[in-house]
Amino acid sequence: MSAPVLLVEGLHKSFGGVQAVEDVSFALSAGELLALIGPNGAGKSTCFNMLNGQLKPDNGIVRLEGRDIVGLTPRQIWRLGVGRTFQITATFASLSVRENVQMALYSHAGRLRSLLARFGTALRDEADALLEQIGMLDQAERPCGVLAYGDLKRVELAMALANAPRLLLMDEPTAGMAPKERVALMELTAKLARAQKIAVLFTEHDMDVVFGQADRIIVLDRGRLIAAGLPQEVRNNAEVRAVYLGG
Ligand code: ADP
Ligand code: MG
Repeated sequence: MSAPVLLVEGLHKSFGGVQAVEDVSFALSAGELLALIGPNGAGKSTCFNMLNGQLKPDNGIVRLEGRDIVGLTPRQIWRLGVGRTFQITATFASLSVRENVQMALYSHAGRLRSLLARFGTALRDEADALLEQIGMLDQAERPCGVLAYGDLKRVELAMALANAPRLLLMDEPTAGMAPKERVALMELTAKLARAQKIAVLFTEHDMDVVFGQADRIIVLDRGRLIAAGLPQEVRNNAEVRAVYLGG
């Protein structure tokens, strides 16, 4: 196994009297999909927010490809190659699919890109290559505002990929989608992440998606990591069944 892209050790966060995350440790390798699951209020989003720089841990280590990122701003962490998708859509409704992806490409790696942007066709070709990967090239000219929700989610995935991330953080990426669409979005994510050796950490409530797509699963309950392992190990874990899976 290669050195981890993400290494988390002894992560703690409390809000007032609430211990939201307590002593959480895990690692994630390139091209690996890790699902973080657990009941509402378990601390999943708090973990994400400590990884993307929105929240500072009270204690613990977060290393991205060996580099300590605790205390860096969200922007600095994004620049180091941590992409994310948002629960609220991050696209501009009146701009076309291609323009949205071009903007994401433009904001990646600032100076280099602004040079590249002078050659508009290069940026356009790059955007179209991303749109081809997500199967949206035929909709490149359509405004994002008229897209079906599942298509919009794919555009957001392309925009996250425009930053050439080493690590992609997806907190409930399929929320609000129909079951079939959820599976399709995460299948596509898995395919692209494996091909491009991107590490993916995602939360998900749809167990068909989790057990179908994750390489490994970690389970949080009331801030603590109660299980970690391969999908079939986690599925058969008695404590996980009791607190989350039911039965
Ligand atoms: P999950 O994403 O697993 O549903 P969260 O990380 O959102 O869980 O929440 C974990 C716990 O921390 C909950 O008890 C929640 O109420 C609390 N919490 C989360 N964010 C804050 C905050 N900004 N201020 C106070 N309490 C918070
Ligand atoms: Mg959450």
